Amino acid sequence: METLTLEHETNPWEAQAARFEFAAKKLNLDRGIWKVLSQPSREIIVHFPVAMDDGTVEVFTGYRVQHSVARGPGKGGIRYAPDVSLDEVRALASWMTWKCAVVNIPFGGAKGGVICDPRKLSQTELERITRRYTAELIEFLGPEKDVPAPDMGTDEQTMAWIMDTYSMHMRQTVNAVVTGKPVNLGGSRGRTAATGRGLSVVCDEALKTLSMPVAGCRVIVQGFGNVGSNAARLLAEKGYTIIGISEYDGGLFNPDGIDIPALIEHKKNTRTITGFVGAKAVDKGELLTYPCEILLPAATENVITSRNAAQLRCKILCEGANGPTTPVADEILADKKIFVVPDILANAGGVTTSYFEWVQDRMGYFWTEAEVNQRLDHIMTESFRDVITYAQNHSVNNRIAAYMLAIDRVAYTTRQRGIYA
Ligand code: GLU
Repeated sequence: METLTLEHETNPWEAQAARFEFAAKKLNLDRGIWKVLSQPSREIIVHFPVAMDDGTVEVFTGYRVQHSVARGPGKGGIRYAPDVSLDEVRALASWMTWKCAVVNIPFGGAKGGVICDPRKLSQTELERITRRYTAELIEFLGPEKDVPAPDMGTDEQTMAWIMDTYSMHMRQTVNAVVTGKPVNLGGSRGRTAATGRGLSVVCDEALKTLSMPVAGCRVIVQGFGNVGSNAARLLAEKGYTIIGISEYDGGLFNPDGIDIPALIEHKKNTRTITGFVGAKAVDKGELLTYPCEILLPAATENVITSRNAAQLRCKILCEGANGPTTPVADEILADKKIFVVPDILANAGGVTTSYFEWVQDRMGYFWTEAEVNQRLDHIMTESFRDVITYAQNHSVNNRIAAYMLAIDRVAYTTRQRGIYA
């Protein structure tokens, strides 16, 4: 095995490229299409001034990367975090291309990011940052061009500001320019919980595939934001036992199962999971190595690396986050025969419901939550089966199967559209 420094190992763009190369080779992808798909088609970097609450002026850096628009408009979230980098946004944009193709929805892949710490900014500062960032990108966004959504550090309020700013520039209300909006502004019912819901569906499917029962299935979730908390809540409702939750500021463990609604309430009131009385405080990193049936990372990249992969004691790794596992760790997981439900499949419930939101906005006709959930469950179940069957038929692991399936679909469209000269 190639030895890499951790710095290289954990560069998300390099991780994406390594999987792409491997899958493209297996597919015998022709060289021209290979070159097209191995680079993002457009990268926008903006540095923009914002007046802060104390009267000073700050300059922020924002990115929007459109990896591919071959299958439809660019689609993907916007991340607000202090350590956002171009390589990270590039990787996230390309993962969106593959993710949309895995679940076969008519979108390309894009992602945005602003270097800022939303925890340290007031609502009014966040609003000004969001509106100015949107204005900087105005000609690149649109329901037929590129449709942002929430990601880490952004939420439905952020999407409402983007929708309003875009609409002011267009001189008309254009709600299909973003997804993940509040329901009364054209958001879809079920969107907030959709990534968590999709994760719970693929967990059910993984158990069926491995002939394991839900009863007694212990789950450890890393990250308790929108994705992790909804996944934990929905899995607990289905009868899974959530024995551990880890967050950036601590871990919680209760072998009898953590009361997830109570923990959600605790976090709402205190903005942290620490101090929760219904579980024992444990080391957040060690918790990932506790014995369990399902480990569900639901925060950010590079959580499972060469440093801890060998210590994992789960049977299933279900990736709620984007890029939580490095390629070096993948090989260790394969040796340990851990069943991986890869990110571009596992967490696709969010963007799938974003697609439903975009469709509803363009129709001006809104579905019930039951309709949204039923369509989401159907797509997640079918996509899971497609990937597993592909892996079996081509003797590759689940991650490479998901990449191959996705690359093949995007390559097909790219070839069919032809190269414009
Ligand atoms: N940020 C989410 C993701 O990584 C959702 C993207 C979207 O709905 O467009 O999949």
